[in-house]
Amino acid sequence: MPDAATLNALRAAVEAGFEEELRFLADIVRFQSLRGKEAPLQDHLARWLAGRGYAVDRFSLAEVALDSHPKAAPMEGADPAQSIQVVASRRCGEPSGRSLILQGHIDVVPEGPAAMWTLAPWSATVKDGFLYGRGAADMKAGVAAMIFAMEAIRACNWCPAGDVHLMTVTEEESTGNGALATLLRGYRADAVLIPEPTGHTLTRAHTGTVWFRLRVQGIPVHVAVAQSGSNAIMSAYRLIAGLERHVATLNQEARSHRWYGEVADPIKFNPGIIRGGDWASSTPAWCEVDCRIGLLPGTTPAEAMEGVRRAVAEAVRGDRFLEANPPEVTFHGFQADGFVLEPGSEAEAVLADAHRAVHGEEMAARLSTAVNDTRYYGADFGMPALCYGPSGEGIHGFDERADIESLRATTLAIACFVADWCGVRPLS
Ligand code: ZN
Repeated sequence: MPDAATLNALRAAVEAGFEEELRFLADIVRFQSLRGKEAPLQDHLARWLAGRGYAVDRFSLAEVALDSHPKAAPMEGADPAQSIQVVASRRCGEPSGRSLILQGHIDVVPEGPAAMWTLAPWSATVKDGFLYGRGAADMKAGVAAMIFAMEAIRACNWCPAGDVHLMTVTEEESTGNGALATLLRGYRADAVLIPEPTGHTLTRAHTGTVWFRLRVQGIPVHVAVAQSGSNAIMSAYRLIAGLERHVATLNQEARSHRWYGEVADPIKFNPGIIRGGDWASSTPAWCEVDCRIGLLPGTTPAEAMEGVRRAVAEAVRGDRFLEANPPEVTFHGFQADGFVLEPGSEAEAVLADAHRAVHGEEMAARLSTAVNDTRYYGADFGMPALCYGPSGEGIHGFDERADIESLRATTLAIACFVADWCGVRPLS
C-alpha cells in the first residue's frame, strides 16, 4: 500500500499535470491511427517521449524475426515495415527495485460511417465529462494514463528504482504481432500492466481469437434461369448458419469451463465483412466473408481452426454444387490464445493496493470475451501480466468516448502501482 505521503504527493502531481494530460490525449486521438497508418502517431510519441528524457527504441515489425516465433500471426493487409513499435525506457542508475512494462496499443478500428457519430470521430471533442473519438477509450486514454503516471512520479522528483519500459504497439486489433515484437526485441520485466479500458477492474481471463475468411464460388447465370446457376452469396449464408450452430455447441460445452462456466455464451462469432457478386441480375460467382471466432483458455487456436474447418465441411453436406466445389477457408489474422491470470501474484496484490488507495474499495475482477495482449507476456514469457485501466463507452462502435474522471483516477492508480512495485528514489 502506498503510504499517505506518497499517495498525496502523487495525487497532487496528477492533478497539476491533468490539463496537459487531457491535451496530450486529444492530440493522439486526432491521429487516425488505423491499421497500417500508425507510423505518424508512433513518430509523435517517440519524439514526445525522447523529449521527456526517455531512451527511445523505435523499430518496425520487419526488423524483428516474427516468422521464427510459433505465436506470430499471419499479417494480411498491413506492411510489417510500416508497422512501427515504440519502447521508451527509463533507467535510473543501478536498478534496486522491480522492473515493469507499461504497454498500450495505439492502433484503432475503423470509425464506420461518420454520419452515425454525434461528434466527428477524429475531433477529440470534450463534452459532458467525456473525450470523444475513435480510439479515445480503446485505448488511447490508457496510453495517456500510463505515460502521465510516470510524469507524476517525475514531477515528485522521484525516479522508479527499477527499469520501466513504456511501450506503444500496433496490431493489437488484428494479430497481436506488435506486442510479440517487443518481446522478440528482448524486452522483459518483472511485471506487465496494460491499461485497456476495463473500468477499473482487473481482467482475470480473456478469450482467444481466430480470424478466418470463407471464399465461396457460384455459377453466374441470368437470374431468369437462376435454377441452373449457383448463388455464392446464398451459399455463404448457408456456411454462416452452419458456423452459428457450431458456436452454439461450443457455448453449450463452455458451461463446464473453470472460468467461463458462469458467463452466458462466452464464445462470440462474428461475420464482420462480406463481399461478393458483380450484378444484381446475375447469380453471384463469388462471395468472401471475413469472420472472427472466440476460443476459451484451454483450447488452442489450432483446435479452434480445426473446428471451423469441420463446421464448414458439415454445412456443405447435402448441397451438390458446394460438395463438388468446396469453399476455401483461410486464416489471415489473429491466432490468439486465451489467457488466465492465476490469482495470487505479488503484482496483482500491489495493483489491488493501489486501486484501494485511490478508490477506497476492493478491486473487482472481470472475465473478458475479447482478446488483449497480456497473453504473450503472461502465457508465453512467464511474466505476471495485468490488464487494468479506465472506463469508456462506445468501443468499436459509434460515439466512442473516454471518461475523464476515470482517466484521472487511473493515472493516479498506475502512479501508485509503479511507486510501490518498482519503489522510488530521489531524482539525482
Ligand atoms: Zn484495446
